[in-house]
Amino acid sequence: MGNNKYRILIVEDEPNICDFVGTILETNGYQVMEAATYDQGMTMFASHNPDLVILDLGLPDRDGMDMIEEIRTRSATPIIVLSARLAEEDKVKALDAGANDYVSKPFGTAELVARVRATLRNARHRAFDDDVPGRIFRAKDLLIDYDKRYVSVAGKAVKLTQTEYNIVAFLADHSGKVMTYSSIIKAIWGVEDNGSIKRLQVNMANIRKKFGSRPGKSRYILNELGVGYRMINGE
Ligand code: CA
Repeated sequence: MGNNKYRILIVEDEPNICDFVGTILETNGYQVMEAATYDQGMTMFASHNPDLVILDLGLPDRDGMDMIEEIRTRSATPIIVLSARLAEEDKVKALDAGANDYVSKPFGTAELVARVRATLRNARHRAFDDDVPGRIFRAKDLLIDYDKRYVSVAGKAVKLTQTEYNIVAFLADHSGKVMTYSSIIKAIWGVEDNGSIKRLQVNMANIRKKFGSRPGKSRYILNELGVGYRMINGE
């Protein structure tokens, strides 16, 4: 069971970047397919059924953002967005459309490979974990027992409110992935209003305090500024 069974489709119109990404991935044992346009990308997606898509948002024939939605209408195949658009709202838009993660250009080899690995791993975990009772989440010394709604840090029980627990469990359920503010708010409160973000921030501050994190520093839940929160990968 090596990585070589994973097929990755790269949709990117800039040949240099496409070659760079392709070479990195091949070096790391992945099978790579390349497309330079939106249309070509969708055709290859349909015929080759890749395990992961690396998608550039700025494509010549159509906005890559549409491809996220198009793929999501038919499949849960993980998508990592490659983007030079640094605006937070674009990251949010891509994640809310169903992208699993994003890597901002310029990016390093190690970062890209780490994201690909984590995304594939999470997708695989999710496929096996669904509806399995007695699930436990562990990351560093954080432990969540979903059945008992029990959380501990370094073996010590952490007393969370229902809302705080729901937030922590939701983020852990999507560990490794940035969850946008609005996706968290919808999952926890169902609807979004003017006070939602503030309410979320207050809850997050309390969670961090209870987890023993210092201000601005959390060992478990990372704040992706202006975008959302990311629980670190579980074991
Ligand atoms: Ca481009």
